[in-house]
Amino acid sequence: MTDAGAGGEERGRRLATDVPGPASRRLAARRAAAVTRAVGTTLGVFAARAEAGILEDVDGNRFIDFASGISVTNVGNAAPAVVAAVRHQAGLFTHTCFQVTPYEGYVAVCERLNALTPGDHEKRSLLVNSGAEAVENAVKVARYATGRQAVVAFDHGFHGRTLLTMSLTGKAVPYKEGFGPFAPEVYRAPYSYPFRNTGRLEEVIAHVETTVGAESIACVVVEPICGEGGFIVPEPGWLAGLSRWCAEHGVLVVADEVQTAMGRTGTWFACEHEHVVPDLVTTAKSLGGGLPIGAVTGRAEVMDAVHPGGLGGTFGGNPLACAAALAVCDTIERQGLLERARHIGDMALRRLEKLVAATGPVGEARGRGAMVAVELVGSDGHTPDAAAARAAAAACHRHGVLVLTAGTYGNVIRLLPPLVISDELLGEGLEVLEAALQGV
Ligand SMILES: *Cc1c(COP(=O)(O)O)cnc(C)c1O
Repeated sequence: MTDAGAGGEERGRRLATDVPGPASRRLAARRAAAVTRAVGTTLGVFAARAEAGILEDVDGNRFIDFASGISVTNVGNAAPAVVAAVRHQAGLFTHTCFQVTPYEGYVAVCERLNALTPGDHEKRSLLVNSGAEAVENAVKVARYATGRQAVVAFDHGFHGRTLLTMSLTGKAVPYKEGFGPFAPEVYRAPYSYPFRNTGRLEEVIAHVETTVGAESIACVVVEPICGEGGFIVPEPGWLAGLSRWCAEHGVLVVADEVQTAMGRTGTWFACEHEHVVPDLVTTAKSLGGGLPIGAVTGRAEVMDAVHPGGLGGTFGGNPLACAAALAVCDTIERQGLLERARHIGDMALRRLEKLVAATGPVGEARGRGAMVAVELVGSDGHTPDAAAARAAAAACHRHGVLVLTAGTYGNVIRLLPPLVISDELLGEGLEVLEAALQGV
């Protein structure tokens, strides 16, 4: 991995000042006076530069990056191939609007996604700017193609912050409270959550058949592993069983792979672990390696059901973002990052599983590939302990390791390291996390 870091050699964790330091505190004051407080903050340091597994702030503190900007910089931050591709494209043209004057990059990204997504049927893709926009468009397509209106989403699901995707999202605070009324014809079903023993497939199907009715449903929108919901890996066979039921009833499966795709779980798409072939797949986050791009990829007859002009947008598939996405795909292939993701997951899970105890605070360590989490619980081994998760995350931040919390109950610490992180940085970050978990 000679091009793992923008600066060549990988630089390590370093705490130069308090966290946040004086320069970050000055920027935080400006931010408070200029930026709405409605946008949250995980860690109040301001970024100055970043590379493979390290994020440096404006005070010269360097954090081991276990967040990847929420699974965006899977190939590394400022990955050399991405930077070169964007620089090159920026010198040619920065925008035309694909529906005004098309360009090859957009077509090439669609070809790539059509080839990489599960299933060898004929496919078509649409490019957009974000995960939420991808999910919105998948629902539009599913409704158009089926002539049905109802959409089934799941407990613990997160699909974005626009009106429709917020309506599909399963968690009230902070995503929904005060923002209603919500989009109509959205119905919620339980999600398989083995640790909490909920969402058995037969119950889910019975619930949907009773409360919605199979013949009214255009699509189910489902994450193959819940991301924001707490890295919940459904029971083996659950996703496949759900897909079979959908196929039998003419219900389309929209796999929301916005967080799980592009190698994160050790395969290109998380559905592959369950041998599920969705009708429509949404991607975004890591697709552009840091540039904003999202996509809907699906069965040709479904995607082409919509009339010409029915889908699109001014910026969708921006040429810089397309150049970046192609470089991301190349980098994953060239650097063997699917194998790296599996290696990272093996290493992290093996260590975190040692902390699991019947009396908490670590109730479960779980994940797939480089998508790994611990769920924190009280001494009964069950009751969610969000305070413990916050405390452990804060301790990691103080010691120079950037982790994210997650979970419907806020009691999960999730790891999303870039797939190019070195074993040394990964091990060092895990040590800090282990100490933080033992300290709560
Ligand atoms: C982040 C996320 C979204 C929303 O993506 P944005 O780009 O923030 O709009 C949708 N679905 C899933 C599964 C996500 O993780």
